[in-house]
Amino acid sequence: MISEIRLRRAHIDLVSPFRTSFGVETARDLLYIEVHGDGVTGWGECTAMSEPMYSSEYVDGCEAVIRRFLLPHVVGGTTAESFTKSVAGIRGHYMAKAVVETALLDHQLRCDGVSFAKFLGATQSRVRSGVSVGIQPSIDDLLHVVQKYLDDGYLRIKLKIEPGFDIEPVRAVRRTFGDALLLQVDANSAYHVNDAAHLAQLDDFNLLLIEQPLPEEQLAAHAELAKLVHTPICLDESILSVEVARDALAIGACSIINIKPGRVGGYLEAKKIHDLCFERGVPVWCGGMLETGIGRAANLALAALPGFTLPGDTSASARYFQRDVTSPFVLRDGHLDVPTGVGIGVDPDLNYLDSITSRRDVLTVAR
Ligand SMILES: [Mg+2]
Repeated sequence: MISEIRLRRAHIDLVSPFRTSFGVETARDLLYIEVHGDGVTGWGECTAMSEPMYSSEYVDGCEAVIRRFLLPHVVGGTTAESFTKSVAGIRGHYMAKAVVETALLDHQLRCDGVSFAKFLGATQSRVRSGVSVGIQPSIDDLLHVVQKYLDDGYLRIKLKIEPGFDIEPVRAVRRTFGDALLLQVDANSAYHVNDAAHLAQLDDFNLLLIEQPLPEEQLAAHAELAKLVHTPICLDESILSVEVARDALAIGACSIINIKPGRVGGYLEAKKIHDLCFERGVPVWCGGMLETGIGRAANLALAALPGFTLPGDTSASARYFQRDVTSPFVLRDGHLDVPTGVGIGVDPDLNYLDSITSRRDVLTVAR
Protein backbone atom coordinates (compact mmCIF):
# COMPACT_ATOMS: atom_id res chain seq x y z
CA MET A 1 0.00 0.00 0.00
CA ILE A 2 1.13 3.53 -0.74
CA SER A 3 1.49 5.63 2.40
CA GLU A 4 3.23 8.75 1.18
CA ILE A 5 4.20 10.64 -1.96
CA ARG A 6 7.20 12.92 -1.96
CA LEU A 7 7.94 15.57 -4.52
CA ARG A 8 11.58 16.52 -4.94
CA ARG A 9 13.09 19.40 -6.91
CA ALA A 10 16.78 19.32 -7.78
CA HIS A 11 19.33 20.90 -10.09
CA ILE A 12 22.18 19.34 -12.04
CA ASP A 13 24.55 20.99 -14.52
CA LEU A 14 25.17 19.53 -17.97
CA VAL A 15 28.80 18.83 -18.95
CA SER A 16 28.34 21.07 -21.99
CA PRO A 17 25.57 23.37 -23.24
CA PHE A 18 23.04 21.61 -25.48
CA ARG A 19 21.75 23.84 -28.26
CA THR A 20 18.72 23.00 -30.38
CA SER A 21 16.61 25.04 -32.78
CA PHE A 22 14.50 26.23 -29.82
CA GLY A 23 17.16 27.21 -27.29
CA VAL A 24 20.19 26.33 -25.16
CA GLU A 25 20.13 24.02 -22.12
CA THR A 26 22.99 24.30 -19.63
CA ALA A 27 21.42 22.43 -16.71
CA ARG A 28 18.48 20.19 -15.84
CA ASP A 29 15.82 21.60 -13.56
CA LEU A 30 14.63 18.31 -12.08
CA LEU A 31 11.38 17.10 -10.58
CA TYR A 32 11.23 13.60 -9.10
CA ILE A 33 8.21 11.85 -7.63
CA GLU A 34 8.83 9.26 -4.92
CA VAL A 35 6.10 6.77 -4.03
CA HIS A 36 6.63 5.28 -0.56
CA GLY A 37 4.86 2.31 1.00
CA ASP A 38 5.55 -1.10 2.55
CA GLY A 39 9.21 -0.12 2.98
CA VAL A 40 9.66 0.31 -0.78
CA THR A 41 10.32 3.50 -2.77
CA GLY A 42 9.27 3.92 -6.40
CA TRP A 43 10.86 6.67 -8.50
CA GLY A 44 9.77 8.81 -11.41
CA GLU A 45 11.67 11.61 -13.17
CA CYS A 46 9.84 14.40 -14.99
CA THR A 47 11.07 15.03 -18.54
CA ALA A 48 9.78 18.60 -18.83
CA MET A 49 12.33 21.37 -19.34
CA SER A 50 12.41 24.65 -17.41
CA GLU A 51 10.74 26.53 -20.27
CA PRO A 52 7.90 25.53 -22.62
CA MET A 53 10.06 25.42 -25.77
CA TYR A 54 10.27 21.72 -26.71
CA SER A 55 6.56 21.41 -25.92
CA SER A 56 3.90 23.38 -24.07
CA GLU A 57 4.84 21.70 -20.77
CA TYR A 58 7.47 23.03 -18.36
CA VAL A 59 8.66 21.76 -15.04
CA ASP A 60 7.05 24.32 -12.69
CA GLY A 61 3.80 23.84 -14.60
CA CYS A 62 4.09 20.08 -14.16
CA GLU A 63 4.54 20.52 -10.43
CA ALA A 64 1.40 22.68 -10.23
CA VAL A 65 -0.65 20.16 -12.23
CA ILE A 66 0.65 17.24 -10.19
CA ARG A 67 -0.19 18.91 -6.87
CA ARG A 68 -3.59 20.26 -7.81
CA PHE A 69 -5.02 17.75 -10.28
CA LEU A 70 -3.05 14.48 -10.32
CA LEU A 71 -2.08 13.56 -6.77
CA PRO A 72 -5.71 13.72 -5.56
CA HIS A 73 -6.18 10.63 -7.77
CA VAL A 74 -3.60 8.64 -5.79
CA VAL A 75 -4.86 6.67 -2.78
CA GLY A 76 -3.34 3.75 -0.87
CA GLY A 77 -4.20 1.09 -3.42
CA THR A 78 -3.63 3.08 -6.63
CA THR A 79 -1.69 1.29 -9.39
CA ALA A 80 -0.11 2.75 -12.52
CA GLU A 81 -2.99 1.31 -14.55
CA SER A 82 -5.75 2.63 -12.27
CA PHE A 83 -4.07 6.05 -12.06
CA THR A 84 -3.90 6.34 -15.85
CA LYS A 85 -7.61 5.51 -16.17
CA SER A 86 -8.50 7.85 -13.33
CA VAL A 87 -6.74 10.88 -14.86
CA ALA A 88 -7.88 10.19 -18.44
CA GLY A 89 -10.37 13.08 -18.22
CA ILE A 90 -7.61 15.60 -17.52
CA ARG A 91 -6.57 16.94 -20.93
CA GLY A 92 -2.94 17.02 -21.98
CA HIS A 93 -0.21 17.42 -19.32
CA TYR A 94 1.46 14.24 -20.54
CA MET A 95 4.80 14.84 -18.81
CA ALA A 96 3.09 15.57 -15.50
CA LYS A 97 1.04 12.38 -15.79
CA ALA A 98 4.06 10.34 -16.90
CA VAL A 99 6.23 11.09 -13.87
CA VAL A 100 3.47 10.07 -11.44
CA GLU A 101 2.59 6.95 -13.44
CA THR A 102 6.25 5.92 -13.64
CA ALA A 103 6.79 6.29 -9.89
CA LEU A 104 3.63 4.23 -9.23
CA LEU A 105 4.76 1.58 -11.70
CA ASP A 106 8.25 1.45 -10.21
CA HIS A 107 6.76 1.06 -6.74
CA GLN A 108 4.40 -1.76 -7.71
CA LEU A 109 7.03 -3.62 -9.77
CA ARG A 110 9.55 -3.39 -6.92
CA CYS A 111 6.89 -4.78 -4.55
CA ASP A 112 6.15 -7.60 -7.04
CA GLY A 113 9.84 -8.34 -7.70
CA VAL A 114 9.55 -7.64 -11.45
CA SER A 115 11.85 -5.51 -13.61
CA PHE A 116 10.60 -2.80 -16.00
CA ALA A 117 12.21 -4.77 -18.84
CA LYS A 118 10.26 -7.94 -18.00
CA PHE A 119 7.01 -6.02 -17.42
CA LEU A 120 7.27 -4.21 -20.76
CA GLY A 121 8.31 -7.30 -22.73
CA ALA A 122 11.95 -6.50 -23.48
CA THR A 123 13.76 -8.98 -25.71
CA GLN A 124 17.29 -7.54 -25.57
CA SER A 125 19.77 -7.36 -22.70
CA ARG A 126 21.61 -4.34 -24.09
CA VAL A 127 20.66 -1.60 -26.53
CA ARG A 128 22.59 0.16 -29.28
CA SER A 129 23.44 3.68 -28.29
CA GLY A 130 23.31 6.80 -30.41
CA VAL A 131 24.06 10.37 -29.43
CA SER A 132 22.34 13.66 -30.13
CA VAL A 133 24.76 16.43 -31.10
CA GLY A 134 23.66 20.00 -30.42
CA ILE A 135 24.03 22.89 -32.85
CA GLN A 136 27.67 24.05 -32.71
CA PRO A 137 29.20 27.52 -33.25
CA SER A 138 30.91 26.33 -36.47
CA ILE A 139 31.25 23.30 -38.73
CA ASP A 140 34.81 22.77 -37.43
CA ASP A 141 33.49 22.61 -33.87
CA LEU A 142 30.82 20.16 -35.03
CA LEU A 143 33.37 17.85 -36.66
CA HIS A 144 35.44 17.82 -33.45
CA VAL A 145 32.41 16.97 -31.32
CA VAL A 146 31.27 14.20 -33.67
CA GLN A 147 34.81 12.76 -33.74
CA LYS A 148 34.86 12.66 -29.93
CA TYR A 149 31.53 10.80 -29.76
CA LEU A 150 32.66 8.32 -32.41
CA ASP A 151 35.86 7.77 -30.38
CA ASP A 152 33.62 7.06 -27.38
CA GLY A 153 31.98 4.34 -29.46
CA TYR A 154 28.53 5.76 -30.27
CA LEU A 155 26.92 3.80 -33.10
CA ARG A 156 24.71 6.53 -34.54
CA ILE A 157 25.00 10.32 -34.75
CA LYS A 158 22.03 12.68 -34.70
CA LEU A 159 22.67 16.29 -35.66
CA LYS A 160 20.38 19.03 -34.41
CA ILE A 161 19.64 21.38 -37.29
CA GLU A 162 17.89 24.72 -37.85
CA PRO A 163 17.54 27.12 -40.78
CA GLY A 164 21.09 28.37 -41.45
CA PHE A 165 22.74 25.29 -39.90
CA ASP A 166 21.53 22.32 -41.91
CA ILE A 167 22.74 21.31 -45.39
CA GLU A 168 26.42 22.30 -45.07
CA PRO A 169 27.01 20.79 -41.60
CA VAL A 170 25.40 17.52 -42.74
CA ARG A 171 27.50 17.53 -45.92
CA ALA A 172 30.68 18.11 -43.88
CA VAL A 173 29.90 15.31 -41.41
CA ARG A 174 29.04 12.86 -44.21
CA ARG A 175 32.16 13.76 -46.17
CA THR A 176 34.47 13.57 -43.14
CA PHE A 177 33.19 10.38 -41.54
CA GLY A 178 32.13 8.41 -44.62
CA ASP A 179 29.06 6.68 -46.00
CA ALA A 180 28.93 3.93 -43.37
CA LEU A 181 28.14 6.32 -40.49
CA LEU A 182 24.54 5.99 -39.28
CA LEU A 183 23.44 9.62 -39.46
CA GLN A 184 20.16 11.46 -38.93
CA VAL A 185 18.96 15.00 -38.22
CA ASP A 186 16.45 16.61 -35.85
CA ALA A 187 14.88 20.01 -36.60
CA ASN A 188 12.63 20.28 -33.52
CA SER A 189 9.83 21.90 -35.57
CA ALA A 190 12.01 24.68 -37.05
CA TYR A 191 10.82 24.58 -40.68
CA HIS A 192 7.77 25.36 -42.82
CA VAL A 193 6.33 23.06 -45.48
CA ASN A 194 7.42 25.69 -48.04
CA ASP A 195 11.00 24.69 -47.15
CA ALA A 196 10.46 21.30 -48.85
CA ALA A 197 12.85 21.99 -51.74
CA HIS A 198 15.52 23.15 -49.28
CA LEU A 199 15.08 20.09 -47.05
CA ALA A 200 15.12 17.80 -50.12
CA GLN A 201 18.82 18.71 -50.47
CA LEU A 202 19.35 16.42 -47.46
CA ASP A 203 18.36 13.50 -49.72
CA ASP A 204 21.95 13.51 -51.06
CA PHE A 205 23.38 12.38 -47.72
CA ASN A 206 21.70 9.02 -47.15
CA LEU A 207 20.25 9.96 -43.76
CA LEU A 208 18.29 7.45 -41.67
CA LEU A 209 15.58 10.06 -41.12
CA ILE A 210 14.62 13.72 -40.70
CA GLU A 211 13.03 14.19 -37.27
CA GLN A 212 10.16 16.62 -36.65
CA PRO A 213 10.83 19.16 -39.41
CA LEU A 214 7.51 21.03 -38.92
CA PRO A 215 5.45 22.21 -35.91
CA GLU A 216 3.77 19.51 -33.86
CA GLU A 217 0.16 20.23 -34.92
CA GLN A 218 0.97 19.97 -38.64
CA LEU A 219 0.34 16.31 -39.45
CA ALA A 220 -1.09 17.02 -42.92
CA ALA A 221 1.84 19.29 -43.78
CA HIS A 222 4.24 16.53 -42.73
CA ALA A 223 2.37 14.15 -45.08
CA GLU A 224 2.78 16.68 -47.89
CA LEU A 225 6.47 17.12 -47.07
CA ALA A 226 6.98 13.34 -47.05
CA LYS A 227 5.96 13.28 -50.73
CA LEU A 228 8.54 15.94 -51.63
CA VAL A 229 11.51 14.61 -49.63
CA HIS A 230 12.84 11.07 -50.08
CA THR A 231 14.51 10.83 -46.66
CA PRO A 232 12.08 9.16 -44.21
CA ILE A 233 10.19 11.56 -41.92
CA CYS A 234 10.23 10.66 -38.22
CA LEU A 235 7.90 12.37 -35.74
CA ASP A 236 8.75 13.23 -32.14
CA GLU A 237 6.86 16.27 -30.75
CA SER A 238 3.68 15.47 -32.77
CA ILE A 239 3.14 12.00 -31.33
CA LEU A 240 1.30 12.56 -28.04
CA SER A 241 -0.67 9.29 -27.92
CA VAL A 242 -1.26 6.02 -29.72
CA GLU A 243 -4.24 7.66 -31.45
CA VAL A 244 -2.06 10.41 -32.92
CA ALA A 245 0.48 7.77 -33.96
CA ARG A 246 -2.25 5.82 -35.76
CA ASP A 247 -3.48 8.96 -37.56
CA ALA A 248 0.04 10.08 -38.50
CA LEU A 249 0.81 6.69 -40.03
CA ALA A 250 -2.58 6.51 -41.77
CA ILE A 251 -2.02 9.77 -43.68
CA GLY A 252 1.69 9.20 -44.33
CA ALA A 253 2.90 12.02 -42.05
CA CYS A 254 5.79 9.82 -40.94
CA SER A 255 7.28 6.37 -41.51
CA ILE A 256 9.31 6.21 -38.27
CA ILE A 257 8.39 7.25 -34.70
CA ASN A 258 10.57 8.50 -31.85
CA ILE A 259 8.95 7.22 -28.64
CA LYS A 260 9.47 9.25 -25.46
CA PRO A 261 7.39 7.98 -22.53
CA GLY A 262 7.27 11.44 -20.93
CA ARG A 263 5.76 12.99 -24.05
CA VAL A 264 2.93 10.43 -24.26
CA GLY A 265 1.91 10.24 -20.59
CA GLY A 266 4.02 7.29 -19.50
CA TYR A 267 5.30 3.80 -20.21
CA LEU A 268 1.87 2.19 -20.61
CA GLU A 269 1.04 4.48 -23.57
CA ALA A 270 4.62 4.21 -24.91
CA LYS A 271 4.22 0.42 -25.01
CA LYS A 272 0.93 0.79 -26.95
CA ILE A 273 2.68 2.95 -29.55
CA HIS A 274 5.47 0.41 -29.80
CA ASP A 275 2.97 -2.43 -30.26
CA LEU A 276 1.05 -0.54 -32.97
CA CYS A 277 4.26 0.21 -34.89
CA PHE A 278 5.67 -3.30 -34.40
CA GLU A 279 2.49 -4.83 -35.85
CA ARG A 280 2.82 -2.61 -38.90
CA GLY A 281 6.57 -2.95 -39.39
CA VAL A 282 7.13 0.74 -38.58
CA PRO A 283 10.57 1.28 -36.97
CA VAL A 284 10.68 3.07 -33.62
CA TRP A 285 13.50 4.30 -31.41
CA CYS A 286 13.75 5.83 -27.95
CA GLY A 287 14.44 9.54 -27.69
CA GLY A 288 15.92 11.34 -24.72
CA MET A 289 15.14 14.40 -22.60
CA LEU A 290 18.55 14.73 -20.89
CA GLU A 291 17.38 12.31 -18.20
CA THR A 292 19.43 11.46 -15.15
CA GLY A 293 19.97 7.78 -14.31
CA ILE A 294 16.45 7.37 -12.89
CA GLY A 295 14.73 8.30 -16.15
CA ARG A 296 17.45 6.71 -18.28
CA ALA A 297 17.08 3.30 -16.57
CA ALA A 298 13.39 3.06 -17.46
CA ASN A 299 14.02 4.25 -21.03
CA LEU A 300 16.60 1.50 -21.53
CA ALA A 301 14.02 -1.11 -20.56
CA LEU A 302 11.61 0.31 -23.15
CA ALA A 303 14.34 0.53 -25.82
CA ALA A 304 14.93 -3.22 -25.38
CA LEU A 305 11.52 -4.08 -26.89
CA PRO A 306 11.67 -5.83 -30.28
CA GLY A 307 10.29 -2.93 -32.37
CA PHE A 308 13.13 -0.59 -31.34
CA THR A 309 15.15 -1.40 -34.45
CA LEU A 310 17.01 1.92 -34.69
CA PRO A 311 19.64 3.11 -32.17
CA GLY A 312 18.16 5.65 -29.74
CA ASP A 313 19.33 8.77 -27.93
CA THR A 314 19.88 6.71 -24.77
CA SER A 315 23.49 7.81 -24.29
CA ALA A 316 25.87 7.16 -21.39
CA SER A 317 25.64 9.26 -18.20
CA ALA A 318 29.00 10.91 -19.00
CA ARG A 319 27.54 12.50 -22.16
CA TYR A 320 25.37 14.66 -19.89
CA PHE A 321 26.66 14.87 -16.32
CA GLN A 322 29.92 14.95 -14.36
CA ARG A 323 28.19 12.77 -11.82
CA ASP A 324 24.86 11.02 -12.30
CA VAL A 325 22.34 10.52 -9.48
CA THR A 326 22.63 6.72 -9.89
CA SER A 327 25.60 4.53 -10.72
CA PRO A 328 26.65 5.82 -14.13
CA PHE A 329 25.41 4.17 -17.32
CA VAL A 330 28.57 3.33 -19.22
CA LEU A 331 28.97 2.77 -22.95
CA ARG A 332 30.46 -0.63 -23.72
CA ASP A 333 31.10 -1.50 -27.33
CA GLY A 334 28.54 1.13 -28.35
CA HIS A 335 25.81 -0.36 -26.15
CA LEU A 336 24.20 0.31 -22.77
CA ASP A 337 23.10 -2.60 -20.58
CA VAL A 338 19.40 -2.86 -19.77
CA PRO A 339 18.94 -2.88 -15.97
CA THR A 340 17.81 -6.29 -14.67
CA GLY A 341 16.96 -5.40 -11.06
CA VAL A 342 13.39 -4.99 -9.84
CA GLY A 343 11.47 -1.89 -10.95
CA ILE A 344 13.64 0.53 -12.91
CA GLY A 345 16.58 -1.54 -11.66
CA VAL A 346 18.66 1.28 -10.21
CA ASP A 347 18.66 3.26 -6.96
CA PRO A 348 19.71 6.86 -6.61
CA ASP A 349 22.72 7.75 -4.50
CA LEU A 350 20.63 9.49 -1.83
CA ASN A 351 23.52 11.44 -0.30
CA TYR A 352 24.40 12.90 -3.66
CA LEU A 353 20.78 13.43 -4.65
CA ASP A 354 20.10 15.25 -1.36
CA SER A 355 23.12 17.47 -2.04
CA ILE A 356 21.59 18.72 -5.32
CA THR A 357 18.03 18.87 -3.96
CA SER A 358 16.53 22.32 -3.39
CA ARG A 359 13.18 21.23 -1.95
CA ARG A 360 11.43 18.06 -0.88
CA ASP A 361 7.78 18.00 0.15
CA VAL A 362 5.96 15.14 1.82
CA LEU A 363 2.36 14.59 0.74
CA THR A 364 0.30 12.05 2.64
CA VAL A 365 -2.19 10.05 0.59
CA ALA A 366 -5.70 9.00 1.50
CA ARG A 367 -6.14 5.34 2.48
MG1 LIG B 1 13.51 15.21 -31.28
